[in-house]
Amino acid sequence: MSAVTSTDAPTATATSLRPGRDELDRLAARVAVPADGRERAAVVSPLTGAAIGEVPVGTPDDVAAAVTCAREVQQEWAARPARERAKALLRYHDLVLDHQDELMDLIQAENGKARVWAFEEILDQAVTARYYARLAPRALRPQRRLSALPGLVSTREHHEPKGVVGVIAPWNYPLVLAMSDALAALVAGNGVVLKPDSQTPFTALRAVELLEQAGLPAGLVQVVTGPGRSVGTAIIDTADYVMFTGSTATGRTVARRAGERLIGMSAELGGKNAMVITGDVDLDRAVEGAVVAAFANTGQLCISIERIYVEQPIAEAFVDRFGARTAALRLGAEQDYGPEVGSLASPAQLDKVRAHVEDALAKGARLVAGGRHRPDVGPLFYEPTVLTGVTPDMDLHRDETFGPVVAVYPVASDDEAVARANDTEYGLNASVYCGDTARGRAIAARILAGTVNVNDGYSSAWGSLDAPMGGMKASGVGRRHGPEGLLKYTESRTVAVRSKLAEKLQDATRDPDGYARRFTTLLRAAKHLPR
Ligand code: NAD
Repeated sequence: MSAVTSTDAPTATATSLRPGRDELDRLAARVAVPADGRERAAVVSPLTGAAIGEVPVGTPDDVAAAVTCAREVQQEWAARPARERAKALLRYHDLVLDHQDELMDLIQAENGKARVWAFEEILDQAVTARYYARLAPRALRPQRRLSALPGLVSTREHHEPKGVVGVIAPWNYPLVLAMSDALAALVAGNGVVLKPDSQTPFTALRAVELLEQAGLPAGLVQVVTGPGRSVGTAIIDTADYVMFTGSTATGRTVARRAGERLIGMSAELGGKNAMVITGDVDLDRAVEGAVVAAFANTGQLCISIERIYVEQPIAEAFVDRFGARTAALRLGAEQDYGPEVGSLASPAQLDKVRAHVEDALAKGARLVAGGRHRPDVGPLFYEPTVLTGVTPDMDLHRDETFGPVVAVYPVASDDEAVARANDTEYGLNASVYCGDTARGRAIAARILAGTVNVNDGYSSAWGSLDAPMGGMKASGVGRRHGPEGLLKYTESRTVAVRSKLAEKLQDATRDPDGYARRFTTLLRAAKHLPR
């Protein structure tokens, strides 16, 4: 079957998918849930609407058993030097690249995305494994710290693994969002209990198999499948730290529960990400950038752009070209590099996207491109859609669509663009397209978002792995990537050794008057010392 553009006539639907049922059954047997006496849940491919496999539905007891097992194996893993743990990540890096076709087949079969965006996951997984492998031995080494007065105390900060980290992942990036945080937690010396989304369990199961092939002890990473309400809750109730990626609503529930237990948590949540395009921009570059920023991964990307603010003089030309380029995007359900746009991931996603577009059109928005469900391509396909004339009474004006729908608004100035970009409860990602880089940086500095990309939609900031990535406002708590993304999976222990000189100087009980005078003098002098 060949790919079709948004404006083409209907074609047939893809029917047979890779991998086959035997491989999926083999992977399902790796779930840390006993096969006997457990219900099984079907995994339905969005590409065909047919069940491709099934996994057992875990219970809170299964989670407790998985955490106990991971905890036992973790002791031995944590005792290994960080550089040895890092070597396993580097071997995993190679295995992911070697097995990329197989992983992309799995990602496409269970998520429905176009292959080019499945490759984005391979790329990201490899660079993340490499980054944390290189960072960990250095960042986890005991660090010298300053004491209040130099020479009196020798202080070192040590990093101990938390123990078992719970990772609760969504369905939109089955490899990246299940495994990237797990990689950081593992190289820091932790075990992991992972709950992939019920729709996308197989990619994570195969990735864990590759990690074991790369040298991780069996049992260190436990995958438990099942509903968020029971399995997810049980993970928060038993793990030593929780990394959650998903909706803001669920993020609040997870944070409340983790707060009750006084365990740390980090969450990357929803967004309503804005792009600002200034009048001096290279229009072709901005159009291409906006297409990727809004429609990569069928718009089911937490850092996807859903609002575009274009400076008035070029707004009409931008809308014309952006609309034409969007209408020409190739939709398709093939497991090859032909299509540019894949399926939505679930009927719930299709319902949400349709509802947002229908509501906007009913209230007077103008359809520039797209706007149609395409069951001729696959049951859950929806055309990439561009709207103008979107007003505050329309649902998609403020609410996240999490699909291939973007609204374009003209603005009079940089000030107006910044004010409107910031007029949201969210603050995850943003983009500025600008002819003058200094002006672009100046606009970026005023946008309230965890990441801002200049002359790119999202991949520059996301791919800057040494820099923190996460959300301001209702878009999250904590950060992934960078040293923060590693050290959050550790407890700091400060060990301070007092010197003999300090013992003499700090004789506060037998000679309080002398103690006060000596320290007053020392403090006055210390202010003039460098650092
Ligand atoms: P979701 O919050 O419904 O589910 C995410 C995960 O949490 C799933 O594994 C789910 O089973 C689990 N879960 C559900 N209820 C739970 C509970 N009470 N306790 C513990 N775990 C629970 O989100 P979704 O529908 O799967 O994903 C779409 C949303 O996620 C979008 O709003 C999107 O913005 C957001 N998202 C954010 C990022 C990011 O990196 N910031 C990435 C992907 C998705």
